[in-house]
Amino acid sequence: MNAQNISAQNADAQNINAQNISAQNADAQNVTVIGLGQMGAALADAFLSAGHRTTVWNRTPGKADALVARGAVLAASVAEAVEASELVVVCVLDHPAVRELLAPVTGSLRGRVLVNLTSGSPEQARAEAEWAAEHGIGFLDGGIMTTPPGIGDSGNMILYAGSPALFAEHRATLAVLGDPVDLGADAGLASLYDAGLLGLMWSVFGGWLHATALAGADGVAAHEFTALANRWLKTVSWFLSTYAEQIDAGEYPGSDATIDVQVATIGHLIEAGEARGIDGRLPRLHLELMREAVAAGHGGDSYARLIEAFRNK
Ligand code: NAP
Repeated sequence: MNAQNISAQNADAQNINAQNISAQNADAQNVTVIGLGQMGAALADAFLSAGHRTTVWNRTPGKADALVARGAVLAASVAEAVEASELVVVCVLDHPAVRELLAPVTGSLRGRVLVNLTSGSPEQARAEAEWAAEHGIGFLDGGIMTTPPGIGDSGNMILYAGSPALFAEHRATLAVLGDPVDLGADAGLASLYDAGLLGLMWSVFGGWLHATALAGADGVAAHEFTALANRWLKTVSWFLSTYAEQIDAGEYPGSDATIDVQVATIGHLIEAGEARGIDGRLPRLHLELMREAVAAGHGGDSYARLIEAFRNK
């Protein structure tokens, strides 16, 4: 079944649904979503729920069925999708896929605003911004800081970088996806923050899983341990704010806890793990970084001094 057939079959239902939804929202905008994988479908769904007139396109058109049943309009081509709205959101696998889809329709995109919510590197985002500028296309790059079930929840952040004026103009429409955070004019910053924040998430996951395995070896259920782990993370986040001030100042006074003390303390974690057959690679990495700082004469400093272990390799 091709896209046009699907479009035709659903046209009546679409019109009725779209009219009903728009009638509930006096601020309804035309919005296009290109890419209906797990994330793109959630984005389109949130625009529909907010009453926006939502046009969608996906390489595999069948993925649009549920959205069309909710009132989305399925475009028969990428060009038709782009031409339906001033605001065009693209969320596909990667940047090469974005370019492959959009390079043939630069004429249609001219004068519109492209919001790229496809993940990539800062360098790719900056290249995309340059490409957009060369073709007279407004551009924002985004980083989605949640999974699809979290789309539409204002407690979750969606990071944006690129033209502050375009961000201000479309902020209210984008806010239906999640809390829009403006990172300013450098189009690479959303991807840079995104990569860094995911790195933080993986480090937290690693520490939590290691600790949960340790506690589990003595019969503590994961949910029991995690209740306290979540409280502890609030305290840890306070440490981060304190240490961020030190990093910005370039001074790391060990006035709360020194690296020397933490070298001794992490020994307890490593020993407890060894006694229970728990993999010790993660805590041993932390110990190695701490020992480097001690060897360089910084044992009396705060843990924030370890920023230097990561810089400019
Ligand atoms: P997904 O479910 O695998 O969907 C991938 C989408 O990309 C599909 O619409 C697919 O089309 C399309 N696509 C892939 N290659 C293409 C090509 N060459 N030409 C045209 N379309 C192509 O992935 P997803 O989870 O939605 O992720 C999409 C983007 O969102 C990724 O950049 C991802 O990093 C980002 N993201 C995802 C999450 C998450 O939790 N899922 C969170 C934050 C950011 P077909 O349907 O035709 O295959």
